Amino acid sequence: MSGAANADRLISGGKAEGDDFERHLRPQQLGDFIGQARARENLDIFIQAAKNRGEALDHVLLHGPPGLGKTTLAQIVARELGVSFKATSGPVIAKAGDLAALLTNLEARDVLFIDEIHRLNPAVEEILYPAMEDFQLDLIIGEGPSARSVRIDLPPFTLVGATTRSGLLTTPLRERFGIPLRLNFYEVEELELIVRRGARILDLELDPSGAREIARRARGTPRVAGRLLRRVRDFAAHARAKVVDAATADAALLRLEVDARGLDAMDRRYLNVIARDFSGGPVGVETIAAALSEPRDALEDIIEPYLIQQGFLQRTPRGRLLTPAAFGHIGLTPPGNYLGGLSANQLDLLGDDDA
Ligand code: ADP
Repeated sequence: MSGAANADRLISGGKAEGDDFERHLRPQQLGDFIGQARARENLDIFIQAAKNRGEALDHVLLHGPPGLGKTTLAQIVARELGVSFKATSGPVIAKAGDLAALLTNLEARDVLFIDEIHRLNPAVEEILYPAMEDFQLDLIIGEGPSARSVRIDLPPFTLVGATTRSGLLTTPLRERFGIPLRLNFYEVEELELIVRRGARILDLELDPSGAREIARRARGTPRVAGRLLRRVRDFAAHARAKVVDAATADAALLRLEVDARGLDAMDRRYLNVIARDFSGGPVGVETIAAALSEPRDALEDIIEPYLIQQGFLQRTPRGRLLTPAAFGHIGLTPPGNYLGGLSANQLDLLGDDDA
């Protein structure tokens, strides 16, 4: 992913380089991890059971939009199990040998974290199947007539995979995860706790109304909350505000073009294109991507999930469709040929966006 939809974007869920503050903000234990109650409770039960049996935890698949805490949870799993944590990502493992090197360096019950696991090269994925299922590595050594296959036993380990959309995983890979967990956008109250914790770490005087304002506009995403908090701190320092209250936070966020619902300039561009150029839709995602000059992946992973969750966008079999609320939000009146007033049944809406 590239372009304004991701790295350069203040509210993008994507990771920034050298983000020290993020490291400090990361909760270290399951008990410190705020929100995602279901995922947390499930993990807690499975971790305790694995520890009591002295076995490796079953493989875990974490899926959900960027910045919701997948990497953080993976690290917590290793810490709670009392084992080492090794991390890599799908696109980085170029060939089977790279994966073999990682796997043979694991010790019993270690956690191997593969971020963006849907982007594994198929040849590497093939090697992963027996490794996950039987803790065995089948490698071909040498080339041509002298090539031979060897089988290496691996220590039992836990693979924690992370993906933005589990629908992008191949079925055989998805089926090898015994513990699939979906992470959802956070509630404002949860983000408020995260923002207040961040303010303590930054030594920033944050009034409860200021914390709530940042939380409301953080796109349901802890990573975004952390970034907004830092930018608000900069504005407050510039304005010589000793305490950050709702008004200070609001002024800072407006300057950053983050609106009252947490949408930024890119989100509004997306809504405007569908509203103005396509009568509110339905319009195919490829067409929107072309109109915005943004990669389709970035739209599907970062922009759309939040707009759908906020009730501004629907996915229909015929493409993306704005809701009447979206028109209201960007201050436009739906055109006469707008189809968004139809009921879900009439539009035969697709259920899960991950399908
Ligand atoms: P992902 O891997 O899903 O993209 P990360 O685990 O890297 O997300 O989390 C992004 C940032 O948000 C990190 O700085 C992390 O500390 C913070 N964060 C995520 N979840 C929580 C949480 N539940 N409580 C506090 N901070 C969180």
